[in-house]
Amino acid sequence: MAAPENTSPSEAEPNEKTPPVYRDFIRKIIDEELASGKHSSIITRFPPEPNGYLHIGHAKSICLNFGIAQQYHGQCNLRFDDTNPVKEENEYVDSIMEDIRWLGFTWDELHYASDYFHQLYDWAVQLIQKGKAYVCDLSGEETREYRGTLNTPGKESPYRNRSVEENLDLFQRMKAGEFPDGSRTLRAKIDMSSPNLNMRDPVMYRILHATHHRTGDEWCIYPMYDFTHGQSDSIERITHSLCTLEFENHRPLYDWFCDALEIYHPRQIEFSRLNLTHTVMSKRLLLKLVTEKYVHGWDDPRMPTICGLRRRGYTPEAIRTFCEKIGVNKMDSLVEMGLLEFYLRDQLNLIAPRFMAVLKPLKVVLTNWEPGKIEMLEAINNPERPEDGSRQIPFSGELFIEQDDFMETPPKGYFRLSPGKEVRLRWGYYIRCNDVIKDENGNVVELHCTYDPQTRGGQSPDGRKVKGTIHWVSAQHAINAEVRLYNPLLTVPSLTDLPGEFLDYLNPDSLQVLKNCKLEPSLADVPEGFRCQFERLGYFCCDPDSTEENKVFNRTVTLKDSWAKAQKK
Ligand code: ATP
Ligand code: MG
Repeated sequence: MAAPENTSPSEAEPNEKTPPVYRDFIRKIIDEELASGKHSSIITRFPPEPNGYLHIGHAKSICLNFGIAQQYHGQCNLRFDDTNPVKEENEYVDSIMEDIRWLGFTWDELHYASDYFHQLYDWAVQLIQKGKAYVCDLSGEETREYRGTLNTPGKESPYRNRSVEENLDLFQRMKAGEFPDGSRTLRAKIDMSSPNLNMRDPVMYRILHATHHRTGDEWCIYPMYDFTHGQSDSIERITHSLCTLEFENHRPLYDWFCDALEIYHPRQIEFSRLNLTHTVMSKRLLLKLVTEKYVHGWDDPRMPTICGLRRRGYTPEAIRTFCEKIGVNKMDSLVEMGLLEFYLRDQLNLIAPRFMAVLKPLKVVLTNWEPGKIEMLEAINNPERPEDGSRQIPFSGELFIEQDDFMETPPKGYFRLSPGKEVRLRWGYYIRCNDVIKDENGNVVELHCTYDPQTRGGQSPDGRKVKGTIHWVSAQHAINAEVRLYNPLLTVPSLTDLPGEFLDYLNPDSLQVLKNCKLEPSLADVPEGFRCQFERLGYFCCDPDSTEENKVFNRTVTLKDSWAKAQKK
């Protein structure tokens, strides 16, 4: 497992002897700016584009932005960055709000970049009037050609020196819908020979006759990200605009627009994206998995989306702890999925009540049990939390155990059940296997065993040693269930530098469905989303696909990191 990417200089709490320590470089900057009087309060924002569902990478940004606001008693806004009408939908807006709330955060103000379209238009007009923006008739392809490359300077557009009047007239007519899509753009007049390609007269507005999820058909020109983001931050008086490293090269432009417009100037600070092993995080790829049905939807428990993790049984606390522990810095890195699972397991161990469930049942008949007798046995709910008490579980002469807990010819060191051997039933009795019943194909279908009445509760009366303890359910009391087991979505830790398409690396065994599972009856009435441990099998969560007759459970995570072990073999 990768060590958490701790940030300098130390995570220790400050005390009298040590000077204040910073958990990350962003908080250090904020502390300095508060101390110097540059700011008296802090405002951050989380700015998703509503073109997909949030994923665990977004959680990092959410925990950072909302976490800073909480820590400094400041404010954090939710702003939908909705400047691309083609890909955005209200479904995404709703899911994003639900996921942020579920993660445990509340925004102070809710905004949409589209609410600023009029202001942005006015600002564009101002830049034209100042001679800092012009309407350009180059096509998309020509614009790219003229831009040049990292090694070659760009070429100025032949339309660059249009008069202010002509630009104002054309821009107004772009807005009025006189021109087709792609025929003209509004561009900032900056520097075609800048080493930063983003500064080579970037496009501010494009023509797009498309219906917007909020503004409908009011607009047929839409501002670009770079002409929207900083100004939106400025309007909301965001003090620190935190974004991921790919925007580092956009910062000069962010600053240029604020300066040219002479408006309040927030400070953009970049940090590294979260990448997790064995999954994909880009919305484009996640969308492909959903639309081409490689998974059963955005909330498929295999997805790294917040709703997928929720359905899988993740807790918001575990996700928050993970985000806090990986820290924030400027180095791109790949974090082990095992680390996320570690924090989840850590928390579920403390809170999840224990139950018994048999995933691949094998019938056991106790030949010396009084026919029809039912005994209630006491089982501790959670050994980590004595205050959670205990429950009664029924025991009878016919039980189910796991097929894996029996071997006809066991290797040395196998302490579970085998012919002539004894095993302890959890919370119950010792049983000894006397007969193995097989079908015509030689498959074991039933075991005939005897129980030792002296061993109730798993205690040996004569000090005889029984090493193995296995779980079970009473056959007549068991409830039926489908259990879904999961493996990682990808067969490789990372797609970086691999040939082919990402679909080539999809794990064909990411989902295993077990239909004939048997659960202890205490689980009959648990609600959707209920989290528990099935003893010896892992942590599970009740799925919304559950019906009256048939519960469905997802395995959230195994008890130990078996995947990492399997990888090392
Ligand atoms: P994608 O590239 O997957 O489409 P995005 O960055 O375009 O994602 P946005 O909706 O624009 O998604 O993201 C909202 C905020 O979340 C941005 O500030 C972005 O920087 C941040 N964010 C997105 N992905 C990650 C990640 N993997 N790690 C940290 N922050 C992220
Ligand atoms: Mg984006």
